[in-house]
Amino acid sequence: MLLCCTIGIYSLTNHILARFYEKGEGGMFTQTHAAQVLSALKAALTLPNTLKINHDPFETLIITIISQNTADTDTERAFQNLSKKFKITPQTLASAPLKEMEECLQIGGLYRSKAKTIQTASKIIVEKFGGSLKPILALPTEDARAALMDTHGVGQKTADVVLLFCANQPTVPVDTHVDRVSKRLGLAPEGSGYEEVRGRLQSLFEPEDYLSVHLLLILLGKTFCKARKTLCHGCPVNVYCPSNGRGEMA
Ligand code: SF4
Repeated sequence: MLLCCTIGIYSLTNHILARFYEKGEGGMFTQTHAAQVLSALKAALTLPNTLKINHDPFETLIITIISQNTADTDTERAFQNLSKKFKITPQTLASAPLKEMEECLQIGGLYRSKAKTIQTASKIIVEKFGGSLKPILALPTEDARAALMDTHGVGQKTADVVLLFCANQPTVPVDTHVDRVSKRLGLAPEGSGYEEVRGRLQSLFEPEDYLSVHLLLILLGKTFCKARKTLCHGCPVNVYCPSNGRGEMA
């Protein structure tokens, strides 16, 4: 009786029912459900043209360092300023005057610390890795990751971005959007840290989809699943989302 009543209530709308499909242990999504989410995202959102993405490992590393706590447009402008002034190579940036690098990056946040990080990372790449990231990127993913994170200023996200975009290595970078959206969607547990979110996404999706998953979750986070205000009504994955219906989030 109670069960019938419950079913009756939840059959009122498709999206409420969908919350109860395909959930695995602990209420987390299964691979089947994750595939449905990915399929809905691919159908509704247009992926950025990845041909435009820079595949030079060192440039990608520098862009990712600049992008921390900085809007996309300011990141682009700061990188352009830096590239107009200096050749973007480890050898050049290792010996570039710090003050001049700071001026180039001033448009973005934390520009002093970023200039220092770029200079130190460049020196390490020159001294420790012979001036090129290519031998590192040829290593198995976790070894390459460890080697990159051994470089000053290179954290988990930066290492994963370089590995995914420049070496097509199977890893999912977790930026602020990917983290937030994954948790709201139930793809990763609330309160989980970087490695847990990354591991969870990598277990739910196929390696050949990691780039799409990363880009689509960012796009979803920027368009519908924003940090402060969610637009659940028009969200392309609201039928699968356990957070749908909470309305605007504070
Ligand atoms: S339904 Fe709402 S909370 Fe869920 S992913 Fe979409 S925008 Fe985010």
